[in-house]
Amino acid sequence: MPAKAILISIGDEILYGQTLDTNSHWISGELDSLGIRVIKKITIGDSREEILDNLAESEKLADMVLITGGLGPTSDDLTKPCLTEYFGTQLERNEEILSHIKGMFERAGWEMSESNAMQADLPANCTPIKNSIGTAAGMWFDQNDTVFVSMPGVPFEMRQMMKDSILPKLKEKFVRDTINHRMIRTIGIGESKLAEIIKDWESQLPKTIKLAYLPTMGAVKLRLTTSGDNATTQKLVQAEIDKVIPLIEKFVYGYEDEEIEEAIGRMLKAKGMTLAVAESCTGGYLSHKITSVPGSSQWFNGSFVPYSNQLKNEQLHVDMKIIQEHGAVSEPVVLALAKNVRKEFKSDVGVSISGIAGPGGGTPEKPVGTVWIGYADAKKNVAKKFQFIRDRELNIKYSAVAALNMIRINLDKD
Ligand code: ATP
Ligand code: MG
Repeated sequence: MPAKAILISIGDEILYGQTLDTNSHWISGELDSLGIRVIKKITIGDSREEILDNLAESEKLADMVLITGGLGPTSDDLTKPCLTEYFGTQLERNEEILSHIKGMFERAGWEMSESNAMQADLPANCTPIKNSIGTAAGMWFDQNDTVFVSMPGVPFEMRQMMKDSILPKLKEKFVRDTINHRMIRTIGIGESKLAEIIKDWESQLPKTIKLAYLPTMGAVKLRLTTSGDNATTQKLVQAEIDKVIPLIEKFVYGYEDEEIEEAIGRMLKAKGMTLAVAESCTGGYLSHKITSVPGSSQWFNGSFVPYSNQLKNEQLHVDMKIIQEHGAVSEPVVLALAKNVRKEFKSDVGVSISGIAGPGGGTPEKPVGTVWIGYADAKKNVAKKFQFIRDRELNIKYSAVAALNMIRINLDKD
């Protein structure tokens, strides 16, 4: 039986719709990959009664209760006094945490107030968890058979704390079998199509291997999970991966943690090729994705955002007549943009995007979400039309992913 967890997100701002509860989403994923079962998520406001009731209720049901939020120095943050009351203890100043907070203020050159010092007052029976990037310490309590962990609400502080100390401690305490995940990363195919192609393979999978489809923006990850990370199970999983790959090869861009922009970098680097981008409707987002990969200066020469027709014409030599005749969102325009940015930026590959991100600007022939993507290298100059159906932000994101996939497909053909 896997250990059971309950997550409690505390904060009025979450209930009012001002803050999206990303903390419990992230924690769920981390616990799932350890094989810990999240049985319930609770969201409550900064209210003493709600906090105390839910602590008591959760203690009956779960092996661990992970709490985020409400640890700040202000009086509306009630988590710490409630925990102190619930565990029947009192606050004590923790000198180690105090000197950590002092150090943080000193380094930042800020004056420390008494309310900041009070963040070092912790329930006497908790094990403090250091917050390496913030002032609110975490707290770990062992109560009967249940572990309670309280963490700050600030997402990056919570994550850092989880990775540094809480996840390893939970793993040690609650996870008997090691869980092993392997990931196959596909792109350019929807979840249901993918499922159809591999359904025979899926139905013959040994019971000890669990398969999950994890769709993200324009891509689907296939996760194979086994418990017991020994050589035999690893061999078994590898054999299944070897069986399924031939069925889906043209959609597989990488494995494990690799993102599509990293895969593109890897491919370009291996071929010793460089890339230049002319992106209109994505306004630099594709370049941002490409340059988020460390070392991208080795394969990325740069980009240009020719948002106006005039710049498309003056800077990248797209014939005004072509633009007038076919529109800026058209095959001949992205073909020319890709070809010319490649030449102008002295790169091996040129890529271009022109589309209607929305919400305005659509026509019956070219509705919102119509996006043309162009590609050029020494041997070819090709273009493809995409029809996305999302809002502006998502159309931009999907366009960038589609462009990355187009680079992958065409590099593969070389
Ligand atoms: P601090 O010491 O910074 O005050 P805290 O523990 O008091 O930390 P909160 O006051 O609850 O945390 O929230 C701090 C910030 O974290 C706020 O901007 C809040 O919107 C955000 N936050 C709180 N809970 C969540 C959550 N579950 N998901 C995402 N963001 C959250
Ligand atoms: Mg709060």
